[in-house]
Amino acid sequence: MQESNQVTPLQVRSNPTRKATRLAVQEDPALRHKLIHELQTTLDLRELLEIFLKHLNRQVPIGGLHYRHPARAIQLHLGNDNLHHCDYRLITPRDNLGEIRFNRTRRFSETELACIESLLGTLIHPLHNGLRYKDALQAALQDPLTGAGNRVAMDTAVRRELQMANRYRQPLSLVMIDIDHFKHINDTYGHAMGDEVLHEVAQTLMRVARTTDMLFRYGGEEFALLLSNTNLEGAANIAERLRETLETLEIEQGNQKLAITASFGLAQYLPATQAKDLFSQADRALYEAKRRGRNCVVTAPETEAQASA
Ligand code: GH3
Ligand code: MG
Ligand code: MG
Repeated sequence: MQESNQVTPLQVRSNPTRKATRLAVQEDPALRHKLIHELQTTLDLRELLEIFLKHLNRQVPIGGLHYRHPARAIQLHLGNDNLHHCDYRLITPRDNLGEIRFNRTRRFSETELACIESLLGTLIHPLHNGLRYKDALQAALQDPLTGAGNRVAMDTAVRRELQMANRYRQPLSLVMIDIDHFKHINDTYGHAMGDEVLHEVAQTLMRVARTTDMLFRYGGEEFALLLSNTNLEGAANIAERLRETLETLEIEQGNQKLAITASFGLAQYLPATQAKDLFSQADRALYEAKRRGRNCVVTAPETEAQASA
């Protein structure tokens, strides 16, 4: 471990014995070398932790491991949960690498804790690279302005969800969302304010729909929300809740509060149809919502009839 890196114990609930243990855990340099080498073979966080746990287990018996990085919403679990655990916060001067908990049924001795701490040093750089890699993958799938998924992410999600719907006979719904009179916001308050509204709307939709990874920016001021294992009735409830939330949203603009609304078109995927049919049906429903005066939810009549048949 480099001196600049820290492995900070948070708490050691296992109350390690103060006395020297009869079987002192000697760190094996050859094992350490092998571990460092193997940790360089992957950037996948779970694989990194699996490799680390496998090697650590050869020196200190461990029942399970729990890694979390709250700021990045990462939680990974390996092995079992047990009563005794030791926790470490992995921090470098440049980066917070998250927290790691090792657990097992027996208490950890001080010698064992020293061994864990020493070996944790080998994890710092691979973990840093793994997190950066994960960030890069995520950025490639995200619309930078709104934080919603981009079209690449949407295509992948649609393919995956259609397979799930077909294989498990699960319902799948699509909600198309288009901000009303958005051009007017741009024209009145400027493009920068328009961008802020787009960001605010997307963040609100993700928060309320609670499906962070299933909202996609479909076009300029248009979003697609894919609802896995949800039928039309469920989708209509969610869409109505989203519509009401946007209607009451107040976006600060100087001393004023800017109000917005959006229109919603829904469709349910029906087996033996194609993704493009689902999108065109939801799109037609959205068009109808605009025609009816905006700020409303409309369900595609053809999917409604068939879904309830
Ligand atoms: P409707 O209620 O019928 O949907 O009207 P609208 O004004 O929302 O729709 P229209 O399609 O006429 O205008 C959409 C506008 O969105 C036009 C375009 O300049 C703007 N827009 C598209 N992408 C962006 C963006 O990334 N940022 C900003 N600020 N504006 C954008
Ligand atoms: Mg619009
Ligand atoms: Mg539009």
